This record gives sequence, structure tokens and C-alpha cells, in this order.
Amino acid sequence: MRVNVNLNSQAANLDLFVVPHDGPALLGRDWLGKLRLNWQEIKTLRSTTCESTSLNDLLETHKELFSPGIGTLKHIKGSVTVNSDAKPVFLKARTVPYSLRTKVEQELDKLQTDGIIEPVAHSNWATPIVPAIKREKSFQDIKELICSDKVLCHYDPKLPLKLAADASPYGIGSVLSHVFPDGTERPIAFSSRTLNQAEKAYSHIDKEALALYWGYQYDIEFRGTKAHGNADTLSRVQLPSIREPLDDEDPIDLFYSRKFDDLQIRRETQREPVLSQILDCVTRGHFPQDCDDKLKPYYNRKDELNVYQGCVTWGNRVIIPDILREKVITELHSGHIGIVKMKAVARSYVWWPKIDEAIEEICKACYGCKRVQNAPSAAPVHPWNFLPKAWHRLHIDFAGPFHHAMFLIIVDAYSKWPEVFEMKSTTSTATINTLRTLFIKPGKVFQQK
Ligand SMILES: [Zn+2]
Repeated sequence: MRVNVNLNSQAANLDLFVVPHDGPALLGRDWLGKLRLNWQEIKTLRSTTCESTSLNDLLETHKELFSPGIGTLKHIKGSVTVNSDAKPVFLKARTVPYSLRTKVEQELDKLQTDGIIEPVAHSNWATPIVPAIKREKSFQDIKELICSDKVLCHYDPKLPLKLAADASPYGIGSVLSHVFPDGTERPIAFSSRTLNQAEKAYSHIDKEALALYWGYQYDIEFRGTKAHGNADTLSRVQLPSIREPLDDEDPIDLFYSRKFDDLQIRRETQREPVLSQILDCVTRGHFPQDCDDKLKPYYNRKDELNVYQGCVTWGNRVIIPDILREKVITELHSGHIGIVKMKAVARSYVWWPKIDEAIEEICKACYGCKRVQNAPSAAPVHPWNFLPKAWHRLHIDFAGPFHHAMFLIIVDAYSKWPEVFEMKSTTSTATINTLRTLFIKPGKVFQQK
């Protein structure tokens, strides 16, 4: 219908629609276009004091509903329904641990004061109290954990996988996760275990590699500890390892460890203050930020240092403790092979800070070395390998023909003991058979030339 509208001094003829529905009256755009409203007045907020006392009265009347505490339900009786053939059971009270007795009594008093329980003189039914200490902190932790990204998800072959691995001085841990399209990660599986005795001796970087070795096919991504809480934590709270070390050692390891034993490198490494500190740093995978000058040369190589058989190594070079350095230099120098070759031999076996300077010093003062340095011909063979006993290394070759026969000549490098066999044939089969009869006699040979 068409109506005449007056607002303050304004007047307009406008359409008014009456519709058969409940709801507030609406002022349409056509009305707003014709009538000018005081928007400033409409949008202003004013604070007013509540004149009405009805709310306060309500709160006062039912104050027990709003008071702190648990409250009780009045005038309503609950009932417990049991099977008609159920027999009453009266269980004796359990002994409450002494440390909890006061707490339990306090709690019972409180329940009685609150009107939740009341004492009875007799009952056919009874069950003992089992006090369970609620720890608010652990409850909150669990709540947070359930909401966090650490909760397992199901494996989905369509989603990319991520393997996170980490190591601590005594364990390794890893987490296999899915990466979801929005970039979030959810774990599929966790695993962790303790390191066995041999693994504990690994340098820290090797332990990290061991943790990764559990993976399958993966791209390696480095993450700092902070971004990496899950695997890092697992590596510190691992399960026991199933595989314990094998008693058999690799014969090659045995050979090198014996060589180390001969020089007492392991023992002296532990005795020397600087090197024992480095050994500790490498094993734990942690070097101090500020280190004194004595540690600097090692600190500069910290990512390449390793631990092998209780000795610190840099690459394949054993780091020689201070007290043994002169002995090793003397040994390196014994063939008078000159600065260049001596350095080359050292590079294959040993290192310590300023080893090159030490080599230069000894060679510059040596007439024999100077002569070798200038000579173009091959240097004498360096007798590096220590032979701990007879029959450790043999030198074998054929001699002949002599008196229409070939001879297999075997000389023990340690004792120079010769063994000579007349050979009807020099085929490998014949040679192996002959050597076999020889080896049955004195035992194992470690090295053949
Ligand atoms: Zn020399």
C-alpha cells in the first residue's frame, strides 16, 4: 500500500508492504533514499547504569547456584539398579599407603562437609578406596599432546613421507611422518633404541648417521634441535636395543686396533688433557663455543673428527697424543725418505697440530733426507708396518727354472725364516695347495705380499 510518512520535518509518500510472517519491521532502501536519518545519533554508544534490581534480586535469591564449590541436588533420590539375583559383596578396605593417609582423610572429610558422602554404620555392599593421584600438569600435557601434531596418523601411499632421525650419547630415535598438502606434519611411526657398546663409542656424527640408516629411500634435510623435538626426545628416552654387539671382530679392525695397542695411542689419548677433552667432545657431538688456543686446531676440524677404537681420528689419520709424537716422527724418519714422502706417509696414518712443521724440521737437519730430496730415483721402501710376531707377513715368489724345476720361496718377514718347495706345476691351484699345507703348520697369516 502507498502511505504518507512523516519524520521530524520530512514527509514522503512511500510503499509499505505487509507480509504474513513474524519478524521485525524493516526499513527498506527506497525509504532510506527518501528519508534522512540522523546516523550519528543512531550509532552513538552510551553507558548507562542498570536501574533494574531484578538481576541483583535473582542472583541474591539463588546465590547457592552461583557460589563456588560442587553443590548438591536436593529432594531427588537416585537409585542403582542391580540384577535381581545379584548378591551383595563387602570388600575389605585396602591399606592406604602411609604417605597418602592424611590426604585421603582430608579428601573424605571434604566430601562429607560438602554433603556428597555421609557416614553409615552398616552396609552389605562395600568396595575399597583406591587413591589415584591426579597430576594437573600431566593431565594438561596429555591434553596438549592429543591436540598437537605428535599424534599418529594412518599411512597414506599418496602422501610424501619424511624421516626424522636424531642421536644422543646413548640412544637413537626416529620419526616417520607424512607431510600434508598444507605443510603440516603428522607422525606415522616412532622408534627408538639404546646404542650398544660399540655404537656408544661412535663419534656423534656417526651416531646421527646410524639413526638415519633406519630409513629407506629419502632426501636428507637438516633441522636444528628446536624444530626437531620429537626425534631428539626419543633418542634420549629410548627402548633397550635388541641387537647386542657381536663378539667376533672384523680381522681388519683387529689388525688396526693391535697396531694402536702397540703404540698405546688409546691409553695416551685418555691421559692427555687436550686430546681426552677432544675425545669427549667428538663422542658427545658437542664442542664448546669458546675454546682455548690448544683446542683450536681440533675445533677447526670438528666436523671431520671421529672416534675409532678409543682414538681420535681425522679422516683416516689417527691423532697422536703429545707424548708419542717424537716416537712417531722418529719412525716416519727412519727410512730417510725426505720431506715430501715423509709427509705423504704421515697423511696416510697420523696427524697432530703442526705435524708438517715437525717433519720439515727433522728432515732439514738430516743429510740423508736432503740427498733423497735431490735424487730423482725411487726412495727406499719405508718399513712402516710393525710386525708383532713371527708368521704375520710372508713374502712369496717363484724362483727358477733351476735344475729343470720351479721353486716356491716363502720368507717370513719377521724372522726371515725361509720355506722352499719344489713345484711340479706353477698353476694357481698347485700354489694354493702348497700354501695350504704350509699354513696348516704355524697358524694364521695376516698379510701377504
Ligand atoms: Zn733423514
